[in-house]
Amino acid sequence: MDIHELKAYFFNACAFLHIEINEIQPDIYHLVFPKKLHHVFKEEQMNITFLKEHQHLASFITTESYVLQKIAHVVTQQPKGMSHAFLPFSLQEVKQRARQLFSPDCTITFQQENTITQRYLVLWFKFTLKGFKVEESLRAFKYNLATGDISFLPFDLQELFSRVTESKKALPTIENIEEINEKMMKKATKSGASFVKEKTSEVEQELEKEIKRIHDYYDLLQLEDAFAETASTVETREEREESLKSERYLLIEQQKIKYTFHEEDLTIEPVEMVVLTEEIEYCEMTVSNSFGTHHFTLSGDMENPFICSLTKRKDGPFTLISDGRILLQEKARVCTECLQTFDYTQMKLCAVCDTSVCHSCAKRSSLTQAALCSKHATSCQGCRQQVATNEIQECGSCRDPYCRSCLSGELCELCFDLY
Ligand SMILES: [Zn+2]
Ligand SMILES: [Zn+2]
Ligand SMILES: [Zn+2]
Ligand SMILES: [Zn+2]
Repeated sequence: MDIHELKAYFFNACAFLHIEINEIQPDIYHLVFPKKLHHVFKEEQMNITFLKEHQHLASFITTESYVLQKIAHVVTQQPKGMSHAFLPFSLQEVKQRARQLFSPDCTITFQQENTITQRYLVLWFKFTLKGFKVEESLRAFKYNLATGDISFLPFDLQELFSRVTESKKALPTIENIEEINEKMMKKATKSGASFVKEKTSEVEQELEKEIKRIHDYYDLLQLEDAFAETASTVETREEREESLKSERYLLIEQQKIKYTFHEEDLTIEPVEMVVLTEEIEYCEMTVSNSFGTHHFTLSGDMENPFICSLTKRKDGPFTLISDGRILLQEKARVCTECLQTFDYTQMKLCAVCDTSVCHSCAKRSSLTQAALCSKHATSCQGCRQQVATNEIQECGSCRDPYCRSCLSGELCELCFDLY
């Protein structure tokens, strides 16, 4: 176990045993044992640390330390009395966040609220894997009492315990509890293989280091041999080389065996069972502004479903644009001609005044192909083509507007011909 895993395991086990944990200074934790554990630890409280450099300040916790061993043992000795936990997934926060995520031009309403109740049997297992070192972990599975589906519990214990409350409702009677237990045990056992694999791959780096050390050592030996001025014959030199080679190979194989965990060294024990009632609130949400309306389904156990259709960002503030899409407000532009909103990639800037106009409102100069707003598009008296107002010149004689390709010098064709 690395320090993070050790910490997570330790804190999870503490959560199980209702041992209070407070970080009193960086990396020093104060534990308060519940009354029923006073006789086990012979103390009511204790300071602990996971850092060796703090061991003069608090009990230093390692996988071998007395405190951890004790806690790990007590976890498996827990009375298996079942409790009933209640886990609500309220919409309140989700709704509040939803409101904050839309710009003030949007009106938000919620309708059709309802609640779906799911009941589970949750069983925690302690996984203990004994190899060249001991790996321990607490893992939980939940069994849906209505559908029979078994899934991982998505929370770690600390998080779950901080969110659940003791249900006031009576514990439901579960008829086939033995059978369910058996199914969950099977599921846990099945996941054992992946647990062993996971742990083996976690120590892979350590193994690689060991192998490298062996290679370095034998590389050095061979190098020394090559430079040694012994009067050894070719035969003995070859023999020695051969034996070094097989020694090297043997050592590496031994290390590989040492660093591999085996499924038969894994024990899985059920440690705690809880009936969990989840209440998930659902509602429909309507967002509307002067350009359109959009509907969403929200639930208390989900992230907000809003996403900018252009940038895929989820942080808002969002707005609705005229084609019904959700967009980050900063990416939305109003067309000064039709007053509809678009995403900025659909906009053109007038080459004369720089205002935004949408694709369909934008006009084009036949001379330069530049986009124009309607104020700055005009037509040439000669060729009748659409051009920008700044591409037009008055004829020096008749004062009519012409584009530069229709003027000969200062004059339009008609006036030119007259002179
Ligand atoms: Zn427009
Ligand atoms: Zn313009
Ligand atoms: Zn012209
Ligand atoms: Zn003219």
